[in-house]
Amino acid sequence: MKAESSLGITELSDCEMKYILAIFELGGDSRPIKISDLSKHLNLALPTVSIMVRKLAKRGLTCVVKRGYVTLTGNGCVLARMLIHAHGILEHIFVKAGLTPNEACCIASRIQNKVPYTVIMELWEKMGKPLECPHGIPMVKKEGRVCPCNFCKD
Ligand SMILES: [Zn+2]
Ligand SMILES: [Zn+2]
Repeated sequence: MKAESSLGITELSDCEMKYILAIFELGGDSRPIKISDLSKHLNLALPTVSIMVRKLAKRGLTCVVKRGYVTLTGNGCVLARMLIHAHGILEHIFVKAGLTPNEACCIASRIQNKVPYTVIMELWEKMGKPLECPHGIPMVKKEGRVCPCNFCKD
């Protein structure tokens, strides 16, 4: 199913997920981003963020390319895309069940790393393979936009 060295979305903690999505949104899938910008984006202290970025590097998800800069690894990029995809599919399901897109967004962002990606892919096919989430944000990444509730504080 997956290479033994790469992680799947259900192996990510909520904290790891938040970091990966934030780095992705800042463009860290294609170029090094400043760890200080990441700390501003996450509204967390720089030393906290620096430590976490190094932990993620040990997990093979980020790469500290030069002092103060971080980028996602291949595995990190793949996981970010899978999470965004899973988020959008789950939103569609909750909207179909009667929630507003924003209610669906909040719940999806809490469980998107709990559902195996094989299940997400099955659900995606059953939903008619939508390309955008109910907010009109592409689920298949182009500009690195991530649904805002992925950064809800609670
Ligand atoms: Zn959303
Ligand atoms: Zn959305």
